[in-house]
Formats: sequence, structure tokens, C-alpha cells
Amino acid sequence: MAYDPENIFAKILKGDIPCDKVFEDDWALAFKDINPQAPTHVLVIPKGPYVSLDDFSDNATDGEIAGFFRAVGTVAREQGAVEGGYRFLANNGRDAHQEVPHFHVHIFAGRDLGGMIKRP
Ligand code: AMP
Repeated sequence: MAYDPENIFAKILKGDIPCDKVFEDDWALAFKDINPQAPTHVLVIPKGPYVSLDDFSDNATDGEIAGFFRAVGTVAREQGAVEGGYRFLANNGRDAHQEVPHFHVHIFAGRDLGGMIKRP
């Protein structure tokens, strides 16, 4: 799947639409999810044009991957999520219901997050 430069997170990265930013460095941008599923629900996205975790892990440079995952850990710490615990989640593709075709990870925290996955 080719990267769509007009996807909503690309527009956020370009500054064309606003976000509730909590963190930014050379590698990543983090902002609050517009439809939070937990008291803390933050999305972390890489600055590069990657469709998914599959695309990112296959095509990003080692520097981009290291920088991005360092940023994820920093965001979780800065959100105060380490002591109580947090969930880190990435939806990849159709069966995972990935909605936005720019790689992103969710960080959930601030309540008991329940079991790992719901049965249908
Ligand atoms: P996913 O299903 O993993 O692709 O999740 C996409 C997430 O992006 C959902 O949790 C949405 O609530 C969130 N989202 C969509 N548009 C925005 C936006 N403009 N600002 C913040 N979060 C958004």
C-alpha cells in the first residue's frame, strides 16, 4: 500500500490541522487521541511517511526506529504512566481495524485496562 500524503496524521505533521500535542522531537510527534479510550490515551507517530508498523519496521532507518521507540518511552514517562502501568498498542492492517494509514502507536493508561484482547 502506497503512503497517502493527505492522510489525517500527515496533515497534523504538516501543521495543516491542529492536534493536542504532548511531545515532539526529531523522530516523533505525540498527541492526545481525539476519542480517548482511557484517562490517558496518546498517539505517537514517526515523522517519516510510513503506512504501518509493517512498513516502518521494513523500511525505516535504524536511526528512525531507535528515535521513535525512545520517544514512545519518553512519552509514557512524561505522562506519568510508568508507575501504574500502561498499554502500548499498534493496529496493523484490516483485521486489526487500522483506521489511519500513517504508522502510530497508542499509549493507554490511567485505569485498569482489563485483559489483553476481547473475544468476538
Ligand atoms: P487506529 O484504529 O489504530 O488507526 O486508530 C486511529 C486513532 O486515531 C483512533 O483512536 C482515533 O480516535 C484517532 N484519531 C483520528 N483522528 C484524529 C485526530 N484528528 N486527532 C487525534 N486523534 C485522532
